[in-house]
Amino acid sequence: MPTIVTHAAVPLCLGLGLGRKIIPARLMLGGVVLAMLPDADVLAFKFGVAYGNAFGHRGFTHSLLFAFVVPLLCLLGYRWFRAGFIRVWLFLTVSLLSHSLLDSVTTGGKGVGWLWPWSDDRFFAPWQVIRVAPFALSSYLEPRGQAVMWSEWQWVWLPGLLMAFLLFVLRKNFR
Ligand SMILES: [Zn+2]
Repeated sequence: MPTIVTHAAVPLCLGLGLGRKIIPARLMLGGVVLAMLPDADVLAFKFGVAYGNAFGHRGFTHSLLFAFVVPLLCLLGYRWFRAGFIRVWLFLTVSLLSHSLLDSVTTGGKGVGWLWPWSDDRFFAPWQVIRVAPFALSSYLEPRGQAVMWSEWQWVWLPGLLMAFLLFVLRKNFR
């Protein structure tokens, strides 16, 4: 995984760029939660589930099925998000899907289990650019952890903020 905080970058930058009228605060919050949700599976390590297992890290919570079903479940209470049905669905799906996409471009760990339950194979994107994040928080004080943060800034936050800025400019000029 990139660090869990960096997974929030996608809905945050999209939400900021599109503005509150399009993405209300509650919807942005929902996107942030869903973008980080797949890594709840690290709890599996505590129960002794192996990394490569479908219920291990980057397993079923990182699958396309999960990214399809969870936003649909959230739609049951879509009014809470204070936006239209389609917009809530789209934003939550993009946020959740961005998680496994980001994971698939990291330089380490096992790939993501996109095709669960049809296949237990793990997948990576054709190129890996983001340094994989260590699990131990203490390593962020060391050079290795700092290299991870730099690579996340470079590959996620910076492009995300540029996109947000671009959306902001477009929004101000075309209305
Ligand atoms: Zn992950």
